[in-house]
Amino acid sequence: MWTMARGILIAAAIGAASVAGAAGTDQPPSLDAALAVMRAHRFVDLTHSFAPGIPHWKGAPDESVKTLYTVKKDGFRINEYTHISQWGTHVDAPAHFHEGLHTVDQIDPKDMLMPLVVLDVHEKVAKNPDYALQLSDVTDWEARHGKIPRGAFVAMRTDWSKRWPNQEAMMNRDAAGTFHYPGWSMPVLKLLYEERGITASGHETTDTDPGSATTKDDYSLESYILGLNHYQIELLANLDQLPEAGGVVWVTFPKPENGAGFPARAIAIVP
Ligand SMILES: [Zn+2]
Repeated sequence: MWTMARGILIAAAIGAASVAGAAGTDQPPSLDAALAVMRAHRFVDLTHSFAPGIPHWKGAPDESVKTLYTVKKDGFRINEYTHISQWGTHVDAPAHFHEGLHTVDQIDPKDMLMPLVVLDVHEKVAKNPDYALQLSDVTDWEARHGKIPRGAFVAMRTDWSKRWPNQEAMMNRDAAGTFHYPGWSMPVLKLLYEERGITASGHETTDTDPGSATTKDDYSLESYILGLNHYQIELLANLDQLPEAGGVVWVTFPKPENGAGFPARAIAIVP
């Protein structure tokens, strides 16, 4: 997967900067050249800031923040944060759902830098908040941009993040108590993970599964991804600022030992 991401960076470096080390030689372009290419592109932060009161899963307690030391009194500031592992924009490690599979600290850093694919269904979601991704959303993307690359990060763009930080709007619950928000579908996930060989996926909502499923505590789509020993990112932001293809995403998070998840920082570098 790193090979693919590196290949794309190198290809970008060759194409955009005409650097030395063309294909066919043993000398790859330098990392300096790759960095110069990346810095010449647009950076988009795909992360919400986290704070007490932000939208969260129905079973989670709120965050609390205590100030232990202040600059005024102590010459420096230290805060104590108390929040669940799945807080704000966050990574879900396979161990979130499956004992024995990878924990956050076991995620390979090479799987944190990836080609970025954006499946844009925000117009369909505007008409139908219960929209679930269809195979045609993938095949239509591939008709425009070619086959989804191995090792990609596939983001589902719904523009649901524009409802942030309104918990009620994010959950979109009707009078009968049913949540109405979009989600993935099993045929799409099977195609992406088992046939295309993607590394990870992410979305703007609180869940992988659509609200109609999570209302009944059905998290089978999330369990499927994590059960393959792949990770996912939830509550992404700013996907409306991304092209459908041609970007790179860098997903980062702290390294809690034996962690099930943690707040994440995801950054896209795009044309
Ligand atoms: Zn999660």
